[in-house]
Amino acid sequence: MLKINNLHVKLEEEDKAILKGVDLEVPDGAVHAIMGPNGSGKSTLSYVLSGRDGYVVTDGSASLDGADLLDMEPEERAAAGLFLAFQYPVEIPGVGNMTFLRTALNAQRTARGQEEMSAADFLKLVREKAKTLKIDADMLKRPVNMGFSGGEKKRNEILQMALLEPKMCILDETDSGLDVDAMKLVSDGVNALRDAGRSFLVITHYQRLLDHIVPDVVHIMSNGRIIKTGGPDLALEVEHNGYADILSETA
Ligand code: ADP
Ligand code: MG
Ligand code: MG
Repeated sequence: MLKINNLHVKLEEEDKAILKGVDLEVPDGAVHAIMGPNGSGKSTLSYVLSGRDGYVVTDGSASLDGADLLDMEPEERAAAGLFLAFQYPVEIPGVGNMTFLRTALNAQRTARGQEEMSAADFLKLVREKAKTLKIDADMLKRPVNMGFSGGEKKRNEILQMALLEPKMCILDETDSGLDVDAMKLVSDGVNALRDAGRSFLVITHYQRLLDHIVPDVVHIMSNGRIIKTGGPDLALEVEHNGYADILSETA
């Protein structure tokens, strides 16, 4: 399980605290959602967990299945089973999508002490996974995310996730910029990966994604802290009343 304890994070460049004591436990098999106003630190939390530069942990801890995540390089975190789907997937000119996916998978296998997957086995696997996400052969051949629509980029990320079979998946505003059909495809892809051994942290600004990916637990984050935790109905409450009530009631 993912265990975050009293996590405090500041920016490297300036003395600005962003996370001010985050406590969170996501058990295996669970889907937790984090909602919250813009600027509350949701993306920072996902970046810090994935090991992105620019942030300094000043207090607290984060572990996955007991292993200290904050002590690991980003590749080691991925090998340990952490996956982060970004709000803005990067475009990589000159690198074919298929090559990229195979490199990512084989890097993970190598880090885990497993043999690399053969080209033939990989082709079979990627075709099978791509089919359920309605990703066609053309999208697999093109350079990574180049000229992909918003929805295609997100589906491509879910494809990557399906191939890597992570233990802990973090989705940071995967729904932003998606139309209803693309959101349905992405959600179906995520739901197909729900499993007793896999957990999800779904960060979203809007409740509508949680109609499709129904969470077990919803957390509200504000000003660098989780200020309220509840069931799926908490997301509906936010949808109807906004954050103001919760903010004033917990102030
Ligand atoms: P959220 O994802 O909830 O909208 P973020 O984690 O993106 O929130 O940002 C939290 C706060 O930290 C915001 O006030 C944001 O401006 C600030 N912040 C995050 N990263 C940086 C950065 N690299 N430089 C300056 N401010 C930052
Ligand atoms: Mg887990
Ligand atoms: Mg964000």
